[in-house]
Amino acid sequence: MIIQVKKDINEEQQQQIFKTITDVGYTPRLIQTQLGAYIIGTGKGKFDIRRMGNLPGVLDIHRVTDNFKLVSRMWKVKDTAVDLGDGVSIGRDDFTIMAGPCSVESTSQTLQTAIHLQENGLRMMRGGVFKPRSSPYSFRGAGMEGLKEMAEICRKHEIKIVTEVMELSQIDQMYDYVDIFQVGARNSQNFNLLDALGKVDKPVLLKRGMSGTIDELLQSAEYIFYAGNEKIILCERGIRTHENAYRNTLDLNAVPILKEKSHLPVIVDPSHGIGIRRFVEPMALAAVMAGADGIILEVHDTPEKALSDGQQTLSFDEARNLYQKANQTYQFLKNL
Ligand code: PEP
Ligand code: MN
Repeated sequence: MIIQVKKDINEEQQQQIFKTITDVGYTPRLIQTQLGAYIIGTGKGKFDIRRMGNLPGVLDIHRVTDNFKLVSRMWKVKDTAVDLGDGVSIGRDDFTIMAGPCSVESTSQTLQTAIHLQENGLRMMRGGVFKPRSSPYSFRGAGMEGLKEMAEICRKHEIKIVTEVMELSQIDQMYDYVDIFQVGARNSQNFNLLDALGKVDKPVLLKRGMSGTIDELLQSAEYIFYAGNEKIILCERGIRTHENAYRNTLDLNAVPILKEKSHLPVIVDPSHGIGIRRFVEPMALAAVMAGADGIILEVHDTPEKALSDGQQTLSFDEARNLYQKANQTYQFLKNL
């Protein structure tokens, strides 16, 4: 069960609710987020939830049987919108396109990307500075210097930044320069990292693990919410299957299923999802039709020279064409 309580609930009210929950054989836990306060009761057996509805401090009470609760649609029917300020919001009534290089490489690349995004009305740049690479010999990112420069350029162009955080110690260093912390596929079940991001008051873009189920993704999101951060965006980026005709199997089935199970926004990464430049567009448009709240794309001024993932990266011209088609597809879907 989830009990929404007043954010300023006092000790006495909390104890009374805890006692009522314990009396029916359930275990109570208080969750305080930046936006609200909740008491979760876990346990087995049936009881009449009405006996808790009238307790002082209680705003609302819901029976939630999922093993993820706070991110479940069972208590929050309305879509969650993640507000980034300055008129940028993800989910609910908005369709968001985030784009940028796989890796932040140079000043001129970041500047050209910022200009490209601004010209096309996009407000979010992606770009990794700490890169999880399969081989230690590959380019592993420009680090904090790259991020600081990215932040300086993006702020001038009124563009928000989404970038991957790979480990706990990076959170504090990155905090001032990041608008959304990205948790990559390889860290999707790094529970210590998820706990720590739950204590941060900036949104988290949580990618599905390569072998993660939909349920596991939602439980990872639950970690972040449980630790105090409600601003979560889910991202389908493809899973590893027996198929090797492309990089990953982009599981677009996950989009309607995630949206039915959870109130959180769901975006799709077709770049990593298929890994082949010429097929990024059809998969991006398919993601829109599947009901995604946004897409995240790899773009580069000269993709063939990119230091990572050039094979799946769109040129600015290809990207511009796709932004228009994706927005048109979203409008078409809305008007169906
Ligand atoms: C990325 O988006 O830069 C990335 C590394 O993606 P993923 O974690 O999905 O592999
Ligand atoms: Mn990449």
